[in-house]
Amino acid sequence: MSVNLEKYGELLAELKNKGITLVAVSKTKPVDSIRELYEEGQRDFGENYVQELLEKKEVLPEDIRWHFIGHLQSNKAKYLVPFVHLIHGVDSIRLLKEINKQAEKTGRIQSVLLQVHIAQEETKFGLDEDELSGFMNDHHELASMKNILISGLMAMASFTDNEQQLRNEFGQLKKLFDQYRNLNLFNCQFTVLSMGMSNDYSIAIEEGSNLVRIGSLIFGKRIG
Ligand SMILES: *Cc1c(COP(=O)(O)O)cnc(C)c1O
Repeated sequence: MSVNLEKYGELLAELKNKGITLVAVSKTKPVDSIRELYEEGQRDFGENYVQELLEKKEVLPEDIRWHFIGHLQSNKAKYLVPFVHLIHGVDSIRLLKEINKQAEKTGRIQSVLLQVHIAQEETKFGLDEDELSGFMNDHHELASMKNILISGLMAMASFTDNEQQLRNEFGQLKKLFDQYRNLNLFNCQFTVLSMGMSNDYSIAIEEGSNLVRIGSLIFGKRIG
């Protein structure tokens, strides 16, 4: 099988020391690979596609904490909210409201992260700083969403080897995290700073990440 257990062990040792959560990103990978890692004790897994996640969840152990890290369309929130542990990519009020509505129906409090656009590429999703500020300062609107818990921020950096640029982008997200972490709102309690992937996680950690999303280092390169 393609799971790199040696790399996984090294990663875990490094992250555990620092109190950092490892989300194993299993998108496009078979359930057997997820099971193999599960048997090593891994419980946090990340998926990007709703349909794929629903199919995998069906046949895998109940105590897996599923992280939805893809771009979520509002009309699909209803499929995830009944069970998903953390939705990382919330980038609009409309989506947040829909998640709240579905969470209310299911009687859950849904934890989410707001996705911020820090990369230079236009293609990546996320709120820019002004949008985030508008969002976080509308306390009335936020407080009306009683079935949401905003647990922090998430971002993807630019796809580059330029270390300084990565540092700047991650540093920018950390600054925003610190700026909003002490908001005194019942449903806004920043504890999670989700940044860093296979290629850039070391820099993300140096810049303050406490949750990394790692796929290809553990599961091998994805095709397509
Ligand atoms: C695919 C993906 C990852 C994992 O990427 P790797 O480079 O395979 O580690 C992390 N975060 C998001 C949002 C992703 O879409």
